[in-house]
Amino acid sequence: MDQVDAVVIGAGVVGLAVARALALQGREVMVLERAEAIGTGTSSRNSEVIHAGIYYPAGSLKARLCVQGKALLYAYCEQRGIGHRRCGKLIVATDDAQAASLAGIQARAAANGVDDLVLLTAAQAQAMEPQLACVASLHSPSTGIVDSHGLMLSLLGDLENAGGLLAVDSAVSGIDARHAAADGLVLTAQDGTEIAAGVVVNAAGLEAPALATRTLGLRADAVPTAWFAKGNYFTLSGRSPFARLIYPVPESAGLGVHLTLDLGGQAKFGPDVQWTDRADDLVVDPARGEAFYAEVRKYWPGLPDGALVPGYAGIRPKISGPGAPAADFLIQGPRAHGAAGLVNLLGIESPGLTSSLAIGEYVAALLAD
Ligand SMILES: Cc1cc2nc3c(=O)[nH]c(=O)nc-3n(C[C@H](O)[C@H](O)[C@H](O)COP(=O)(O)OP(=O)(O)OC[C@H]3O[C@@H](n4cnc5c(N)ncnc54)[C@H](O)[C@@H]3O)c2cc1C
Repeated sequence: MDQVDAVVIGAGVVGLAVARALALQGREVMVLERAEAIGTGTSSRNSEVIHAGIYYPAGSLKARLCVQGKALLYAYCEQRGIGHRRCGKLIVATDDAQAASLAGIQARAAANGVDDLVLLTAAQAQAMEPQLACVASLHSPSTGIVDSHGLMLSLLGDLENAGGLLAVDSAVSGIDARHAAADGLVLTAQDGTEIAAGVVVNAAGLEAPALATRTLGLRADAVPTAWFAKGNYFTLSGRSPFARLIYPVPESAGLGVHLTLDLGGQAKFGPDVQWTDRADDLVVDPARGEAFYAEVRKYWPGLPDGALVPGYAGIRPKISGPGAPAADFLIQGPRAHGAAGLVNLLGIESPGLTSSLAIGEYVAALLAD
């Protein structure tokens, strides 16, 4: 049986950031990825936004790791020449009730250490974005966008420079943690190969809860139910009328149908929220576009008919179901579930991309503890 110090399951942005952090600690690291390449899962199906850390409950892992991750990510992108832009975002209130909630959003952000939000009148917001319709707005200057593939390639480069290895087409079918304290963990690959490891990090994204339930020796009650919330995007044909990201005041399981930009200036709207039973349900139904027109015209009345084109979809790896409050990231180390050397990363939905470098440091510290 092959023996390695540390195995990370999943080569999305979070798995790669964790693997890099473990390798920089001096561990021998192997990343096992089911697909034929890195970053083909949720990490390539998101808004590529560097979130400021505004909405999450104070003290939550989402709040802490987002704010810390944002700072690490900007510094890392600058150092490595990874495409990014600190373009800022406007949270727009389109009626008086929403306007009244902006001060609460600003206070919540401040509790998370995000103290640079500025309340704007409609006229001030429209001076920044002339096509915008709103009654008031909050400006977040530290929100930005990043080239997520450039980021993942750089993380992989760091991992390999530190002696780590990536194995693609290498799905893990099960983990045996029954003798973890004495003999380490044993992974079984889909082709039947077994690998022994002192440390295993389950960063399998949408599959992480299923893999955790297939882990022998793990308490069954330690694994939450997985829920899948699909987010559909529609791209804008033609030039973007906005230079900043535009977000409505959040009212549902997501952040509302917002406008984001990519580094090439292409605008897209989304993601909406569509609960699904399948982790591979990635086709965008063009009929959902109708609801997008209505939502977007609340803040951009000038959206022309026929301008929205079905784009792509991503699935949020949720551990709280429809109607339930959003769960925090669940990062379970040995103290939480009782299996030495094992960390499960569960419910790593947004702001997982922003938080990835901070999650890497957090997991490395958890395993060094
Ligand atoms: C619609 C949407 C929009 C989002 N927007 C943002 C945003 O703007 N900003 C932000 O910060 N975050 C955003 N997020 C969240 C962010 O995309 C995720 O938190 C992040 O990509 C999760 O990365 P990951 O590595 O955990 O998962 P993934 O990218 O899903 O990677 C998991 C990997 O594990 C592999 N795998 C699965 N099972 C196995 C197995 N058995 N064996 C081996 N490999 C396996 C998969 O093939 C995959 O490559 C968004 C998410 C969604 C869905």
